[in-house]
Amino acid sequence: MAMASLSQANYKAWAGAPSNNEKFINMYTSRICGYHKETGFSTSAMSDALLHEISHGKPHTFDYAYAGRQLENKIKPGDVDVRELMNLSKGREFVDRSSNLMGAHIGELFKPGVNIRNPAATNADSIMMTTSLLDQLATNKAGFQSNVAKLRQMLSEAGPGRIAQPVLLNVI
Ligand SMILES: [Zn+2]
Repeated sequence: MAMASLSQANYKAWAGAPSNNEKFINMYTSRICGYHKETGFSTSAMSDALLHEISHGKPHTFDYAYAGRQLENKIKPGDVDVRELMNLSKGREFVDRSSNLMGAHIGELFKPGVNIRNPAATNADSIMMTTSLLDQLATNKAGFQSNVAKLRQMLSEAGPGRIAQPVLLNVI
């Protein structure tokens, strides 16, 4: 459920205008407040949500696939399932369009004549997770190394196939 939405048309108008009165992002306050509580009042989770939205602006990302935040585990609210981000980075033939982690733009990858070489490079949650991991490298190196080890293990286990199991990273 979206907590905010960015209008790319309004963003372009705002970025190119001499004044800064144009509004390009809508925040859904009640959802943001609920999410903040569900994630154990995590500022990291809130930052990730904002990173996602703002990446729809200048980097002009799309919503092909999402990371799935695991909200049912209140003890570890930072757990995020990145399996569909990994499948997206392996290529569109590894994407399961019926997954509940697919985004609104996933159909764009499968239109006739479309062959986006690296869809993960323009996927909002992929940019968000990469940024979050780079921050973790600077602030919690042991956590970063544990996450990278998990990514390598899951890639290795999947071999040439799709990654079907949840890949849980913790970036808090
Ligand atoms: Zn989005």
